[in-house]
Amino acid sequence: MPKQLFFLRQRPSFFLLIALVLMIAAGSAFPQTTAIRVGNLVDPSAGTIAKNQVILVKDSKIAEVGPKVNIPAGSEVIDLMNAWVMPGLMDAHTHITLDDLNMSTGLDVIFLRESSARRALRGLRTAQDILRAGFTVVRDVGNDANYAAVDIRDAIRKGWFIGPTVLTTGKIIAPFGGQTHRIPPEQGRFWLFEYIDADTVDEVRKAVRQNIYYGADAIKLVSDNSSFYYTEEEIRAAVEEAHAAGLAVSVHVMGGEAARNVILGGADSIEHGFDLSDELLQLMKEKGTWLVGTEFPQAHLEKLDPAGALGQAKEAAAKYIDRLRRAYKIGVKMAFGTDSVSNLPGKNRGDMMLDYLDMWDAAGVPPATTLKAMTTNAAQLLRIEKARGSIAKGMAADIIATPGNPLENIQVLRQVSFVMKDGKVVKPKN
Ligand SMILES: [Zn+2]
Repeated sequence: MPKQLFFLRQRPSFFLLIALVLMIAAGSAFPQTTAIRVGNLVDPSAGTIAKNQVILVKDSKIAEVGPKVNIPAGSEVIDLMNAWVMPGLMDAHTHITLDDLNMSTGLDVIFLRESSARRALRGLRTAQDILRAGFTVVRDVGNDANYAAVDIRDAIRKGWFIGPTVLTTGKIIAPFGGQTHRIPPEQGRFWLFEYIDADTVDEVRKAVRQNIYYGADAIKLVSDNSSFYYTEEEIRAAVEEAHAAGLAVSVHVMGGEAARNVILGGADSIEHGFDLSDELLQLMKEKGTWLVGTEFPQAHLEKLDPAGALGQAKEAAAKYIDRLRRAYKIGVKMAFGTDSVSNLPGKNRGDMMLDYLDMWDAAGVPPATTLKAMTTNAAQLLRIEKARGSIAKGMAADIIATPGNPLENIQVLRQVSFVMKDGKVVKPKN
């Protein structure tokens, strides 16, 4: 027999083996398909529930959703028929590289004692805790040493580590001194490890460009840490520069004239805003300014500021609840943001972030509104609403489940029982 006819002499099992190998090779080249059977599919944007749905996930995206989706043979099937399923949660105001912060002694200690590498390692661990709690997107709003959050974001994006989508603002831009107070002049401006001093329209523009250059996804200003604060023109300069590059501007500001400048200057969001009057909240509503309220619960304030340097925790928490209630009643656009920077014993960062649900409940915000602030609304503020924040065809498969209905009781988010991130199960259903 000629040599080229060698194959014909083989037994059929040889061809079966070859066929099998080829099928496996071909299979790995095609997307992995996962079908999730859903008992109750929550749509946070509409505040409604659709019963008995199937979500088909291919690779990292949602390929199909509906009551009569064909499940291709060979798909992995996940049964969430007894659960409530919704898009992953988002926190628009985090500092993942900070931990155990003590405001009674000041932020400065951390700048002096911790390297960017150490901060990045802590941030990665914290990001993973946050993801397992059900938050699939976080925006890190500065205080990340020398751009540590940029590296955390990129490492997760490259697939080196599991983690949430991290968006980062780079260094905080602020008037002279950042968030330090009265550092003696002979010590130099060591706060520049964490902040950019920007005190004129031109300096603000340059600072925004610097952050974009080093990898920021959004811009963060601190306006009123001192008795001096940004003018409307300075805010507008930051907004013009950032918007031209497609980035949103968030501004830490408490209230008063400084907040008015932030609103009129066209910033996308006010962070904290603890002293906002009804009149300013009304102005925010008119201008479409988002509120990322970061309403700290009392126990968190006591941990964060044990000496009470910033005031009495009980009164402060009551004030935050009142401001949240007023903002909700007036109809200001709100996105969930926690600013959690210090963990209570026995709690990780995810647990700490979910404690803020108590504040939203105490302010009388309906669960559906709170859930929207944590998903659809946050996605809009973070400018990712076309990719994340809803369960629909073409969206990233960031999917979580709870054992109860979050539209009736938002506290069920503390019991997230399943987390899928970009199509990968990171917390299997329990
Ligand atoms: Zn903050």
